[in-house]
Amino acid sequence: MDTLDVIIIGGGPIGIACGLEAQKKGLSYIILEKGPIVNSLFNYPVNMQFFSSSERLEIDDIPFISKEAKPKRDEALEYYRRIVTSNNLNIHLFEKVEAVKKTNSNFLIDTTKRSYTSKNLVVATGFYDLPNLLNVPGEDLPKVAHYYKDPHFYAGQKVAVVGASNSAIDAALECWRKGAEVTLIIRGKEVGQRVKYWVRPDIINRIEEGSITAYYQSNITEIKPQEIHITTPKGKKILQNDFVLALTGYRPNFDFLTAMGIEISNDEKKLPNYNPDTMETNVNGLYLAGVICGGMETHKWFIENSRVHAKIIMQQIAN
Ligand code: FAD
Repeated sequence: MDTLDVIIIGGGPIGIACGLEAQKKGLSYIILEKGPIVNSLFNYPVNMQFFSSSERLEIDDIPFISKEAKPKRDEALEYYRRIVTSNNLNIHLFEKVEAVKKTNSNFLIDTTKRSYTSKNLVVATGFYDLPNLLNVPGEDLPKVAHYYKDPHFYAGQKVAVVGASNSAIDAALECWRKGAEVTLIIRGKEVGQRVKYWVRPDIINRIEEGSITAYYQSNITEIKPQEIHITTPKGKKILQNDFVLALTGYRPNFDFLTAMGIEISNDEKKLPNYNPDTMETNVNGLYLAGVICGGMETHKWFIENSRVHAKIIMQQIAN
């Protein structure tokens, strides 16, 4: 195969937006995606509702029609899948990029299936592949999950949910509504302020009425097959437990970025080095797009404010 104008790593909403834009500009391109179309969204909880309204998740002004103002996961899968199929986007699914090398002026990209060369590279790999670990004994037990899918599984079980942001709070409420006995372990003093504004009063009311137990300023210190150990402001406690949902956020794959030569800031934000006017990194011809740009600040970028990256990058490349 000839050297392509651009390869896009990641077939999430922003990788797809980049592919669309490359196609419109007449550039030769491939999107390489290690899973199905919009793999991260596919792996979200089955009943997940976006905090953004559907028009803010649109790419290339293609209308996104949803039943309610804020769409559900299955509606988003439908929307992005239809964009890929009806525009005949050149996307290779279940093909993971394993290594990237820069030769003189081109990139050599090795995947699980073959090798490619391209003049430019866009990394749109998001942050959903690597969970922030608790780093406590017992975290590797099969009863511990860092991704939550479906509340039915937890009916009648004692479930500890660790975290206080949207993922944790959604999971706690859903599991409780399907008959689980839910305990929330929250590191801070309160339920996260960024929890969806229509969900936050719900969880606070459930905690106040005693339906869900919350331990604030508390940490899980050990997980055993039938119990968990926690520290609270009132001392250590041992709770009977069947399952732990450790929903403490996710982080970009920094090793993947540094292996390509992208510089990462030394502070706790771990920001990748790129020019916000062009989205080009410190490596010539290598661009970042989507939520990966935020480093550890995973709340900073989302679909609605990073979809513009596609136009910025493809304009640069076309020039
Ligand atoms: P992703 O969608 O994560 O796409 C990255 C893709 O890269 C994935 O498909 C992954 O499989 C692929 N990939 C990774 N590594 C490789 C590799 N080596 N080779 C090939 N492919 C690879 N944002 C909003 O705007 N509104 C919301 O309401 C909203 N709700 C959210 C709810 C949850 C639970 C979460 C976790 C995030 C939410 N976000 C929301 C944030 C944002 O939607 C997502 O992070 C979004 O998916 C970002 O798009 P992206 O294309 O940048 O990254």
